[in-house]
Amino acid sequence: MRPAILHPLFAEVTDLKGIGPRLGKLFQKLCGPHVVDLLWHLPVDVVDRSFRPKVAEAPEGRIATLTVTVEQHQKPHNPRQPYRVRCRDETGVLYLVFFHVKGDWLERQLPPGAARIVSGRIERFNNQTQMTHPDHILDPAGLDALKLIEPVYRLTAGLTLRTVHKAVEAALARAPQLDEWCDAELLRRRGWPAWRAAIATAHAPARPEDLLPHHPARERLAYDELLANQLTIALLRARARKGAGRAIVAKGELRRRVERALPFALTGAQRRALDEIVADMAQPARMNRLLQGDVGSGKTVVALLAMCDAVEAGGQAALMAPTEILARQHYATLSGLAKDSGIAVALLTGREKGRTRTEFLERLAAGAIHIAVGTHALFQDEVAFKDLALAVIDEQHRFGVEQRLQLASKGRAVDILVMTATPIPRTLEMTAYGDLDSSRLDEKPAGRARTTTRAVPLERIDEVIAAIRRALARRAKIYWICPLVEDSADSDLQAAEARFSELYQTFGNRVGLVHGRMKGPERDRVMAEFASGGIDLLVATTVVEVGVDVADATVMVIEHAERFGLAQLHQLRGRIGRGSEPAACLLLYAPPLSETAKQRLTILRETDDGFRIAEEDLRLRGAGEVLGTRQSGFAEFRLADLAAHADLIPLAREAARLALARDAELESARGQALRTLLYLFERDAAVRYLRAG
Ligand code: ADP
Ligand code: MG
Repeated sequence: MRPAILHPLFAEVTDLKGIGPRLGKLFQKLCGPHVVDLLWHLPVDVVDRSFRPKVAEAPEGRIATLTVTVEQHQKPHNPRQPYRVRCRDETGVLYLVFFHVKGDWLERQLPPGAARIVSGRIERFNNQTQMTHPDHILDPAGLDALKLIEPVYRLTAGLTLRTVHKAVEAALARAPQLDEWCDAELLRRRGWPAWRAAIATAHAPARPEDLLPHHPARERLAYDELLANQLTIALLRARARKGAGRAIVAKGELRRRVERALPFALTGAQRRALDEIVADMAQPARMNRLLQGDVGSGKTVVALLAMCDAVEAGGQAALMAPTEILARQHYATLSGLAKDSGIAVALLTGREKGRTRTEFLERLAAGAIHIAVGTHALFQDEVAFKDLALAVIDEQHRFGVEQRLQLASKGRAVDILVMTATPIPRTLEMTAYGDLDSSRLDEKPAGRARTTTRAVPLERIDEVIAAIRRALARRAKIYWICPLVEDSADSDLQAAEARFSELYQTFGNRVGLVHGRMKGPERDRVMAEFASGGIDLLVATTVVEVGVDVADATVMVIEHAERFGLAQLHQLRGRIGRGSEPAACLLLYAPPLSETAKQRLTILRETDDGFRIAEEDLRLRGAGEVLGTRQSGFAEFRLADLAAHADLIPLAREAARLALARDAELESARGQALRTLLYLFERDAAVRYLRAG
């Protein structure tokens, strides 16, 4: 149970004075539902309000604090016009400008004749000096309450900086002194304050430098978060080792039979990875392994061969994919490859219903299915295996440490192999997959032609259309990827539909469209037509839709490539150039490119090595994005910036290891402090692995 000392921090934000249900919703959107979420909402900037000019000398664009006398209210004639309040000092006139004013609060705040202190950004409009929505309006007697140096927070529509200040202050007032979980020597060496002091300092920057990730207060908080993460991972690992595993004893005959029937020889990397996996499965301890490799590096084949051992040993295997479309594809691949070796492969997704589903469940329970392929549907309660020995999860970042904790806690002594197509930088591997051993497929199957990549500005789209015309004439298969438009699936779809109808007007019914709103069967139909050649130019909205293998697609256009992340672009591009035909990727971008966007496109042109791209991606972006947390709800780091704080990860990892070596159940005084740390970062699931957790 969460210790009582943390209760004030885990109250709802509406528990704070002055935050009712309306503001509560906004705060929830901004940072989260609990008081503690306000603490983690660190300032992004600092303003200096100490500049106190006269009106006549206040320069445009600067934040200034002025003392003025209120003269006259000029109410708008219609609601779209601003409400203006004329004020002055002895040097000139200052208009205060407000939009969407409701009620009479301005009359109360700014009575004519009264002296007021106003602070905000100076603007010049129609030769008049004005300030739109001052950050502060004060009685001169209240000047002491004005912080001349003030933190700036990220906001959301409907919340003002002032409201956030008050809420953060109230949250800070609740932050308790916590027993120290860090090593005294570490604190001394790095000059870090205690937790309570660190969180207070992080919210009270005096200069822009105080916002840098290496400020001691920020660094300490980041370390705390990483320590909670590493402790979780260490506990998970310890538990996985303790948990009774099973030795999968197979001679490898079935595996070799399937391998001999493959139309190709394994690459060196596939062979190495397979050896690692097979050796791991043969151990009595439970396997927890990550198989990383670019799209097309041949992970599925490796997984299939590993599954053969599980089947030969008398067990069953499962392959779980993140989407239905991928599950179907895996099913087609595996049943094709395993067809002549007597292995029974079957499919279960949300779409298998009625008789099909019942039959699947019966055969699975009876052991008549050797390899079950499916979506999350495979992990529903009604799904019972006769004897599941190996679970392969093709995850593409849909799961995090916490989710794996849950999966493992289903209590099955299964070996787990997680496949991911986005190679993960080594540093991140420790935070996201530190509980897993890892195998890397860093070699492409032979005979693949390289994909050439070109960046083309949008205004030269005619050239692209001409290139497509030529490609279509030689019967190439072409993807046209439309990007996300500002998080909105609607405008997203509209953009794709508009592009589709344009291309349709030019190329007629050789053009097809797939998007996320389509129903499964309809989508499958279009994809099947693309695969069979009924459609040659496929317009698609998101990554998911192109998760599919159409091995002979050779051209890809990515529209607004500047809006995609590096790893995402790389992954998309991996969908072409899978055969021996040379392939081309056209990155259509809207100039001007930002510096990082430029770098992204350059890197893509230079390399197609997913491991290198992953490292560059981390360098260019926040780590949260690299891990895809934005889309997936993956436990995100809120204080640690994995690029800037990379050096802290091994420190935290080592501290977690030492702490558990000394006190495996976290029962000593230090152990209790560490438990508090886990709860502070909502790693409750990890604490449950401890005795008396
Ligand atoms: P991934 O799952 O990593 O995206 P797949 O296992 O689906 O890759 O393999 C992609 C394609 O390459 C498949 O058509 C597969 O049959 C083929 N393939 C796999 N391994 C090899 C290899 N060693 N040599 C040639 N082709 C291979
Ligand atoms: Mg695959």
